Amino acid sequence: MTAPTLTVTAQIARLRATFTSGRTRPIAWRLAQLAQIERLLAEGEQRITAALAEDLGRPPHDSFLGDIAPTAAEARFARAHLRKWMRAKRVPVPLSQFPGRAWYDYEPLGVVVVIGPWNYPLLLTLAPLVAAISAGNCAVIKPSEHTPRTAQLITELVREYLDPEAFAVIQGGPEATQAILAEGLDHAFFTGGPEVGKVIMAAAAPHLTPVTLELGGKCPVLVARDADLDVAARRIAWTKLLNSGQTCIAPDYVMVDGAVRDAFLPKLRQALVELSPHRDGGASMPIVNSRHAGRLAGMLRDHGGQVLIGGTGDPGRRQVDLTVVVDPDQDSALMTEEIFGPILPVVTVADDEEAIRWIDRGTKPLAAYVFTRSRRLQRRYRAAVSAGAVVSNHAAAHFLVPGLPFGGVGTSGMGAYHGAWGFQTFSHRKAHLARPSRPDPRIVYPPYGPLAQRM
Ligand code: NAD
Repeated sequence: MTAPTLTVTAQIARLRATFTSGRTRPIAWRLAQLAQIERLLAEGEQRITAALAEDLGRPPHDSFLGDIAPTAAEARFARAHLRKWMRAKRVPVPLSQFPGRAWYDYEPLGVVVVIGPWNYPLLLTLAPLVAAISAGNCAVIKPSEHTPRTAQLITELVREYLDPEAFAVIQGGPEATQAILAEGLDHAFFTGGPEVGKVIMAAAAPHLTPVTLELGGKCPVLVARDADLDVAARRIAWTKLLNSGQTCIAPDYVMVDGAVRDAFLPKLRQALVELSPHRDGGASMPIVNSRHAGRLAGMLRDHGGQVLIGGTGDPGRRQVDLTVVVDPDQDSALMTEEIFGPILPVVTVADDEEAIRWIDRGTKPLAAYVFTRSRRLQRRYRAAVSAGAVVSNHAAAHFLVPGLPFGGVGTSGMGAYHGAWGFQTFSHRKAHLARPSRPDPRIVYPPYGPLAQRM
């Protein structure tokens, strides 16, 4: 027999009561919950990889690399640094406030919600949860309805391992998210597409619930004429293949310098074939559901480019070929919409500046990559391209550096997390000034004595 489910309102009321009791504030509670997340990941590894295999058709080592290991790393890093992050910071006071002391510290926000997408359903709910816990909050977790087995498993694991009075997992689709946001929580942390991001922001607005939006977009890659083409091909292929390209920071399209295009394409093809985990029946890649597979298959129908490998999809079987399209039309869906699947367009550019202009014409990417040996070009690219992150000679790897803020800019998102950035996102920076009662000179009050004559 299953326990009766509480309404969203009742679940959030329970979390509010817990937060008000002060239970989540002590560092000991936070450290214990973080350690439990590590245990949950270590002991639950097989259940997690099995659920992800069912939902996403992923091989277990991809789930370990993509979901489990980075979540565990976030929790470990937070445990190691939390004491330092929580420390109050003294600031100097101006003469007018002498003799006073001023400082700020980090106050938990209260009850927050983490709304997750389906592509890394464990990582993208539990890594923000690590940040919420570090900051001393209670949290509602709303996993994606498109990965139902993982959503159910997250519900069970949170119940088994974490403080049941401080956390609730609420499953469901948009209506569940709307019901949660209607409760007027203290922060909403959303990972998903930019269009839904607007819906989340609008639903948060009536309550002035602050939002962090981790969104998507097209992540460009420039392969310059002086790049190490073997390494570029391998790293682009590897990061594109992960999770069938359904990764927000996967290379979305490649701009290759015309001088090395013909040398680069065979290397890219070879790397994709060699590194592909799904070689059965060619290189069909599993896609989360038939709707997304249909969207990707549609992109492959009308692009005006030359197909180097792959080229079709089978939405009924939730599969899409690992595909490279060379020089598709600029206005094709492949070049205007986020691909979020195993299709890689490669366009030829005359030089680096053309690539930079190309990126500049679009919306600001979540990440932008450049492969080059030239320090000068790396500097130029960093300065000229506005993106959530810029990486030289790799793709997606910045996600694994816990000291870096992870987040977008413009339509790729607002706010950031990971490490201390996540702790700050889920905290209020509270300002404090403490003045003694005396001295209390009469001169500082109206009519200000001699001071007034100077005005
Ligand atoms: P999505 O925006 O469709 O869904 C995300 C979450 O929002 C789900 O939990 C869903 O139930 C909820 N939701 C959907 N429609 C809603 C509505 N109308 N009202 C309220 N809630 C709603 O995103 P997705 O398809 O799961 O993920 C793909 C997108 O996420 C891509 O654009 C990708 O780039 C982006 N993404 C970004 C990051 C990042 O870290 N920035 C990571 C992964 C994915």
